Amino acid sequence: MSVYLSLGKNKQGDFYHVDSQQSGRGELTCPFCDCPLIAVKGQQKASHFRHDGPTCNESLNEIPQIPAWNHFHLNYSIAVVEALKEGYQADSKSPNIFQHWKSKQGQISHLIHDELFKQDTWTDNLLFTNTSRIILGSLTLHDFSHWMRSALRDRIQILRDGIEEGIKHRAWLDIEAYRQQSLLKASLYLFEYQLDDKSIIHKVGRTQREPAQRLKETVLDLEKATNQSVVKSKILRVVTNSGHVEKYVFHRYSKQLANIGNHTEYLILDERSSKRLKTEFTKLANNPEPFNINERFIVTGRWKYEEKRLAASKRGIILTQRENGKFGRPKGTTLSSDDFLSKHSDIVACLEHGSSINQTVESTGKGRSTVKRVKATME
Ligand SMILES: [Zn+2]
Repeated sequence: MSVYLSLGKNKQGDFYHVDSQQSGRGELTCPFCDCPLIAVKGQQKASHFRHDGPTCNESLNEIPQIPAWNHFHLNYSIAVVEALKEGYQADSKSPNIFQHWKSKQGQISHLIHDELFKQDTWTDNLLFTNTSRIILGSLTLHDFSHWMRSALRDRIQILRDGIEEGIKHRAWLDIEAYRQQSLLKASLYLFEYQLDDKSIIHKVGRTQREPAQRLKETVLDLEKATNQSVVKSKILRVVTNSGHVEKYVFHRYSKQLANIGNHTEYLILDERSSKRLKTEFTKLANNPEPFNINERFIVTGRWKYEEKRLAASKRGIILTQRENGKFGRPKGTTLSSDDFLSKHSDIVACLEHGSSINQTVESTGKGRSTVKRVKATME
């Protein structure tokens, strides 16, 4: 499959998907080479942007998928995912124990991965980590949110490191930041509808607008798709800044998903799953995890100005100081190893106590790449 450019950038640094554009030349330029773009809306090929000039190589790369958003195998092979499912018993008394491990050890030991299991030294059982519980859909929405936020922070850090090392085009950071902003800024909602025939349908989704306005639109969609009128509709739950959880709800509640017309985000819940979903939304809403400084950089849209800022600092104007060093340090200065370690003394303490990288990420809430760098600096 050939890859087509699907995102264009305007003068303000905002990104737009080709689907939101009219056919032909508009205001948008290529995020990588700034060449003006022409939206092509053909019948045969998927809609895409064509360069109004030579096509740059960077734009031929596929926009990377986001694990736990675009897919839930989290980059593990089918064999690993199948083994996990086989060793998972949702209704057992201890659903977190990987079953058959002891009996099948010989056959599956090559599938055992640090990130997926932790050994219970008392019982010699293998327990699922949060990562494997996401693949299985057994992790709660609240715990998923925490995991996902850390994974998103890591993705930004890795891109930043790559740009600093000169191996990544900066536009990849912009694209990632744009996508993360649209997830983290959005509210996650749970709507309920009652149809003519008394059936109850739920919908989960995300929006950056007023949920009430969104509810009205979905009522019209639902009436059109079902040929029934919606006699009652209400907002059951809204959780701000949690759009990143949306796709995981569909993954975790996949058995309750209903295909209505060409809509896939409606749910038909029995009493038990309805109660569970509402409780999960409540827990998510009641335990907000404030954005840290790196996340605020994304959510407030400040990432859009970083390119200009870097260009300016190259000219000798150190705008970083004007920002009170709010993100990063002025270019050309590095923290000494000692300063670096004392800045992350919580990570050092965890690692010195023999915690693994995963455990340290969990207990400090810091990104995996930071923990790895601290570990490398300590060695
Ligand atoms: Zn280009």
